[in-house]
Amino acid sequence: MKKRFSRRDFLRLSSGIVASGALATTTRRARASGKPRIVILGFDGMEPSIVDHMLEKGELPHLQGVRAQGAYQRLRSTLPPQSPVAWSSFATCKEPGNHGIFDFLRRDLRSYMPMPGVGTTQHPQFNPDGTVSRPAQSRNFRQGEPFWVVADRRGIRSKLIHIPFSYPADSLSVGKMLCGEGVPDIRGFTNTFFSLSDSFTSEQLAENISGGVRLPLRFDNDVALVDIAGAPDSRQGPGYYVKVPMEIRIDRTAHTAKITVQGKTFEVKVGGWSDWIEWEFTVTPKFSAKAISRVYAEQIGDSVQLYMSSLQFHPKNPYVTFSEPAGYSAELADRYGLYKTLGWAYDTHALRQNALTEGAFLEDTRRTEDWLERLTLDEMEGDDFDMLIAVWTSTDRVAHMFWRYRDPKHPLYSAEGAKEYWRALEDTYQRMDTIVGHVKERLRDDDLLFVMSDHGFHSFRKGFNVNTWLIRNGYLTVKGQSDAASAFTDKEFLQGFDWSKSRAYSLGLGSIYINQKGREIGGIVSPDEADKLIAEIRAKLLEMVDPETGDKVFSNIYTKKDFGGRVVPDTPDIELGYADGYQSTKVAAKGGVGEHILEPNTDKWSGEHGASDVAISPGILFANRPLVPNVSIRDIGVTALTVFGAEIPQDFQGKPILA
Ligand SMILES: [Zn+2]
Repeated sequence: MKKRFSRRDFLRLSSGIVASGALATTTRRARASGKPRIVILGFDGMEPSIVDHMLEKGELPHLQGVRAQGAYQRLRSTLPPQSPVAWSSFATCKEPGNHGIFDFLRRDLRSYMPMPGVGTTQHPQFNPDGTVSRPAQSRNFRQGEPFWVVADRRGIRSKLIHIPFSYPADSLSVGKMLCGEGVPDIRGFTNTFFSLSDSFTSEQLAENISGGVRLPLRFDNDVALVDIAGAPDSRQGPGYYVKVPMEIRIDRTAHTAKITVQGKTFEVKVGGWSDWIEWEFTVTPKFSAKAISRVYAEQIGDSVQLYMSSLQFHPKNPYVTFSEPAGYSAELADRYGLYKTLGWAYDTHALRQNALTEGAFLEDTRRTEDWLERLTLDEMEGDDFDMLIAVWTSTDRVAHMFWRYRDPKHPLYSAEGAKEYWRALEDTYQRMDTIVGHVKERLRDDDLLFVMSDHGFHSFRKGFNVNTWLIRNGYLTVKGQSDAASAFTDKEFLQGFDWSKSRAYSLGLGSIYINQKGREIGGIVSPDEADKLIAEIRAKLLEMVDPETGDKVFSNIYTKKDFGGRVVPDTPDIELGYADGYQSTKVAAKGGVGEHILEPNTDKWSGEHGASDVAISPGILFANRPLVPNVSIRDIGVTALTVFGAEIPQDFQGKPILA
């Protein structure tokens, strides 16, 4: 131990220069016989059945190599098998009942209003003179300590790159962390893209689109000026954003545009991306918020269509710190130039709203994956870490968006589209396999490698309107409507219901709550009756059959005790376990009512897993060592701590899995 520390001290003294071959070799040998390092690569939502198939065909040679050295098996996900829930279990080595993250959304018991389920961002507050009285801050609702924080206390040096839903960054004494999924845009949202065009119809402009905004371009002599609303000004009330003008000067014959923002001009041509545009939103005379974005030119000719990414945190002057140490995000900008900082790194919203083409989406995806690979490999170079975790989420996003081309039974399947894109997901998996290969080249003999995904994937062919089903079965009542067979409301966010006559309601991707007396403000079901009601609804749902196909809609229905921990007011009373092909509709997820109980899914968001039965939605786990059977996502951190000889905290629920 002592020897190792003196070597580290020496490295520090030589300002981290490990380029000297002799030094690197000595270090390598010394470490090889000493403490192994652990590298964990996460590929969000990588589906085992596809991996199996590709392994069989020899399309994942590097993963095959890891398997040959050790193991490849299914990794049990969480109830429900969704990223925020599963990655929180990964971090805290706990079941959802104990870390308290159950879904993207939860509800306010005093108003029934949906609230973020994972975390929130509060914008800065100001003194009367415009100075900041409280800076912007983000909060994660997850309870429990991540295993890398436990390791950090033992002096184990971690490098943590883009672990989903581990934002804000943890405070570490010897580790480094760059946050990924969870980091919002400067407006405080997951994503706000800008779609700019001179040919939007008035209906298109009036429409509220999810994850973005449409802005009209009015050209005068081929020059248009448009105001971009960026940082919020909390003093003006909610929904008020400081605007900065953007000038767009187009050349319709050359198909190019010059975009000028705050005195700097960026060029973009059709089918291409601009450099990073830097923004400064002056919120008060004493405070301005910095952001970055990029523009893609879809069309510049008779008509013009441009896409601009979300206004993302500036890595050198972030709205809220998203790295540890705080200066790490800026250090990376010095090293690589400006880079994508938005947690929702692949703009599925823009693709869904036709603001970005499939091709542009995939190109942006590859570029982002590449950057993350470069960062990961560079961070592996120095002898300055004991554990490295890096996660790619493109595997999940490409599956969500391109499943329609791999499932001939999907309503949006087309042979033509399939010809071009059916391998989009396989290509992504192969790209990840290449990364595994590059990482393996940098491993030492006794280093431990895990490659994992947090859940699997399914086709999403049909949507189930949970609240509509609850209404038709007499559990939920629409305000002012007594006929359960026809009652309907187009109000979202649980706002159309008569709570004095409602016993159950649904919000989120797969949760049903009992309107319980003493818990919900308008609750009518006593806690004693609640369990009986839960059992009754569960039994009915388990019998639910799709009249068109005769298939069961649910492969299991879970209840509050299945979350593996404490039952708290946020715990869903019933958690749906959809069979392959089925999910809650987007309307249901937002606490609304759809017209039909079952409807075809005509959204490009065509693959899902969010409320799939956990039993049929495992992730993958590869390791370069043999493993015990039946491993769960909560076991990995416990295994890492065990390898490092650290004490496992009492409240960790996982087990070590090395055979
Ligand atoms: Zn997903």
